[in-house]
Amino acid sequence: MAQKVERFCSPGKGNGLRAVSSLKAGELLFSTEPFACSVSKRVMKSTCENCLSRKDKLLWCSRCKIAHYCDASCQKQSWPEHKEECQRLKRLHPTIPTDSVRLVAKILSKLVNRSRSPAEKLYSLEELESHLSEMSEEKRSQLEDLGVALRMYLKEEADDLSPLAPGLDPISIIAKVTCNCFSISDGELQEVGVGLYPSVSLLNHACRPNCVMVFEGRILRLRAVQDIRPLEELTISYTDVMMPSQERRKRLQEQYYFLCDCEHCTAADKDSDMLSGPEKDWMSLQHNIPRLEHLQSEQKWEEVLLESQALINSCADTVTDRNVYLVRMLDFALDSCINQAQWDRALEFGIRTLQPYRLYYPDPHPARAVQLMRVGKLQHFLGRLAEARETLRQAYYVMKVTHGDEHALTNELRSKLEEIRMEMDSS
Ligand SMILES: [Zn+2]
Ligand SMILES: [Zn+2]
Ligand SMILES: [Zn+2]
Repeated sequence: MAQKVERFCSPGKGNGLRAVSSLKAGELLFSTEPFACSVSKRVMKSTCENCLSRKDKLLWCSRCKIAHYCDASCQKQSWPEHKEECQRLKRLHPTIPTDSVRLVAKILSKLVNRSRSPAEKLYSLEELESHLSEMSEEKRSQLEDLGVALRMYLKEEADDLSPLAPGLDPISIIAKVTCNCFSISDGELQEVGVGLYPSVSLLNHACRPNCVMVFEGRILRLRAVQDIRPLEELTISYTDVMMPSQERRKRLQEQYYFLCDCEHCTAADKDSDMLSGPEKDWMSLQHNIPRLEHLQSEQKWEEVLLESQALINSCADTVTDRNVYLVRMLDFALDSCINQAQWDRALEFGIRTLQPYRLYYPDPHPARAVQLMRVGKLQHFLGRLAEARETLRQAYYVMKVTHGDEHALTNELRSKLEEIRMEMDSS
């Protein structure tokens, strides 16, 4: 297949990626394996180390008892890569280091006897930005702490890893990883791991990007979500775009060391919607997000529901559903209802999120596709066939662009629609 994208020097931004020829929304532009990736510690028991599928029943590696696999074939495929990690994990048992420490260790072992990885087709590990010189003291000391954890994990192996190329000492690799790694999510956007995809790190940020990334297992696929002209720069969003401009800019500055001066940031064009309602009323919603995220990660669904519902009620008369912090609360409530099989209630919360999702994701976006699919499935389950068909059709139009026609989730959606069609025909 002819290459559709190329590296170029983007004025004012350094390296970038651009279209070689004109591209259509939904077109697949680039696919790549990671240079290295790690399954998130949080989901290790339910995620295959090799293909990153999530399943209830997996086999475990009998040596480290930490890595899990779908079957013997996934285990066999993964062994050349897992071999070293297996010994490390066994040595440290029962402690499991953080995701980034495990990822950096994998990268370091790949750098010994280094040959260029296909993941570096457009941009190499050496070229990745580390932003070391721009880092605050605090950030630097966090890196040093990671370095200590890494040495403890590698033990005597650390000495064998010393003959690395200049600029690739462990601390600068840790810095490169923190600025460049992507979190890998499954089709339904649940985070399953972290990975380094050097070529894709060429993409610069935009608050209204013309491309999105979707993963299939460990493979990253980049697709256009707008029609793109020849030589136009390709962009993705480094942060969630459903965030007021000031918050977006703060995150970009802190994590990626640049001030976004795009038209959406300078005009703050959606802030009046995103922050609608009296501040005193939505402040407590904003403040409680980290706590609710924590409860959610611990799967304390009853508490998540009680608290999000109370916060939603607290501003029922003054804050509209467009307010982004209220949307977050509705999402917490939706998630906890689904996990407690409270379908009717889940649907009520889900429906309320659809309009703000449409407003804040004006182009096809995976988050919108998945949200529509969740709501459509609830409608289907509750026997509201016509509504389900409508919602799932909308999901399908978005998903064809963001995930592509062949993605497992798009296939699932197609069969769901077919199922509904048959149910409607027979009733
Ligand atoms: Zn597998
Ligand atoms: Zn193992
Ligand atoms: Zn911006």
